Parts: sequence; C-alpha cells; structure tokens
Amino acid sequence: MNTIHNAIKSSGGRLTKTKKAIIDILSENHCLLSKQEMVEKLKIKKIRPDRSTIYRELQFLTKNNIVIKNMIAGIDYYEIAQDHHHHLICMSCNSISKVEIGNHLEKQEKQIARQNKFNIINHSLEFYGLCQRCLR
Ligand SMILES: [Zn+2]
Ligand SMILES: [Zn+2]
Ligand SMILES: [Zn+2]
Repeated sequence: MNTIHNAIKSSGGRLTKTKKAIIDILSENHCLLSKQEMVEKLKIKKIRPDRSTIYRELQFLTKNNIVIKNMIAGIDYYEIAQDHHHHLICMSCNSISKVEIGNHLEKQEKQIARQNKFNIINHSLEFYGLCQRCLR
C-alpha cells in the first residue's frame, strides 16, 4: 500500500481522501471495478465526490500507471496496475473472472520490447467466450 502512496507522490500527485479511498477500494477488490461500482463503494465509506473529482482522480491514477483502465463491453473498468493478471469475459452475461496463464506472456513481453525497440509499460489480455453457467 505504501508503495502505491509513494508512487502517487513521486508522480506529483497529492494523496487526497478520494484518491486514497479509490486505491483502498481497488486493492480490496482485487479485480476490475466499474466507475459505478466504485461510486457505490465510496458511498459506503461516506465519501461522495462529484463526477469531475472522480474523473480527475482516475485520470491521474491511470496516466501514471498506478491504476489501469480496461474497456469491456463498452464499460470502463479499473484495477491496480501492480496486481497484474488476465481475464475471462463471458459474452452472454458479461461476467469477468481472473485467469492464471503462467508467465510465458510476461517473458515474451521483454522480447517484444527489445525486438521493436518499444518501451512497454503494460499489456492487457482478455479471453472472450461463454462461462460455465451460460453454457448450460
Ligand atoms: Zn482483474
Ligand atoms: Zn456467462
Ligand atoms: Zn500479463
């Protein structure tokens, strides 16, 4: 948690109450959370920032690679960049679950960066299909 707080400060951001709460909520959630779900969880913590504040805070966090944004089925989702993983997305019920795929891709990333002389900061990989429930 402190490393995230340090990353915010070294990116020139202030650790506002809202920013801290967003980080806490995303850390507790461990996976993609939509802006709407985030607002609900902020409310539980008795924090009610206006739309532009949430927008600004999320923009800062994504721009500095502290939080990653992932658009799935037209909805923006957010998660902590440090907690890197991949997803299975059901095209029928839009459920999202985490999936472990080993470290092949993580190794290949270094090779891709080298071959293309491209400074890769992050990647996302989602598998689309039908979940067990929807298959029945
Ligand atoms: Zn996730
Ligand atoms: Zn499904
Ligand atoms: Zn990966």
